[in-house]
This record gives sequence, structure tokens and C-alpha cells, in this order.
Amino acid sequence: MERTFVMIKPDGVKRGLIGPIITRFEQKGFHLAAMKLMRIDRALAERHYGEHQDRPFFGELVDFLTSGQVCAMVWEGQNAVANTRAIIGATNPVQASPGTIRADFALDIASNIVHGSDSPESAQREIALFFDGAPALETMYRMTGDGAALN
Ligand code: UDP
Repeated sequence: MERTFVMIKPDGVKRGLIGPIITRFEQKGFHLAAMKLMRIDRALAERHYGEHQDRPFFGELVDFLTSGQVCAMVWEGQNAVANTRAIIGATNPVQASPGTIRADFALDIASNIVHGSDSPESAQREIALFFDGAPALETMYRMTGDGAALN
């Protein structure tokens, strides 16, 4: 059994796509091991995407990730990392295969709905970052229609 980290990004939460995305993972046969709705601060977003810190899109990526709630999840099952990447689809929705989450729900590379770890090592690091290493950020939010936090 393998575990991977999946995060529905603010665009997916705001558009009400948590349910459809979870359904796809459950239909595939994965088990949901952990889930929380949270807001992440810039420090956590920058650590999560640290490998991209020198890329031109890094600032916008951090702005986007901190613009609303995210839904952080741990999914487990056989080949969870590779199978999850297959369900999510290519980074750019234009290139994603039909039937993948990014092909079916997203138009734009920056707002591509969902993140999934790219290796078992990344999964371990990201699960620790979001579920062990960020206790101060584990705040419950009530959702409004546009995905803004009420408290
Ligand atoms: N990204 C972007 N512009 C790009 C490449 C990536 O905005 O030209 C964003 C996009 O949201 C992507 C994230 O940066 O999901 C991380 O990029 P990565 O190459 O790790 O893709 P992923 O693993 O998410 O498919």
C-alpha cells in the first residue's frame, strides 16, 4: 500500500468540485486516509512548491494557492502516487487526456484544480508538511458561496 498527497486548489474549492474529485478517487478504488479544509499561508505554499522557486510563475503560483481554501487529502492504495497522477492528468489542461480531472474541469495551466505528489518521496514530504508540520494552520473554516472563509 502506498500513500500520496492530493490537494484541491482554491479554484477547485471555489467551484464546488470537492465532491466530484473525491468521487473519482473513490471510484478508482483508493481509500481516503485524511482530509482537511484549510487556508495556507505564503510560507507553507513556498515550501510546498520550493522546487519551482526560480521559475517565472512562482509568485503567481503562491498568490493563487493562498487566495482561498484548499482541501488537503491523503489517499492510499496500490501505486497511489502513479495512479493519482494518471487520474489528475497533465499539468496543462490542454494536453491532459479526456477523462482526467484537469482535462474535464480546467482550462488553464495556472488554475488546474488539483495537485498530486510526483513521487513517493514527495508524497512523504508533502504529507508531513500539511498534516504534521502545520498545526498552527489547522483551522476549521465555514464556507461561503464564493469559497471565502467566514471564520
Ligand atoms: N504552473 C504554472 N505555470 C507553468 C507551470 C506550472 O502556473 O508554466 C503551476 C501549475 O499550477 C502546476 C504547478 O505550477 O500545477 C506545479 O507545476 P508542476 O510542473 O510541478 O506540475 P504538476 O506536478 O502540478 O502537474
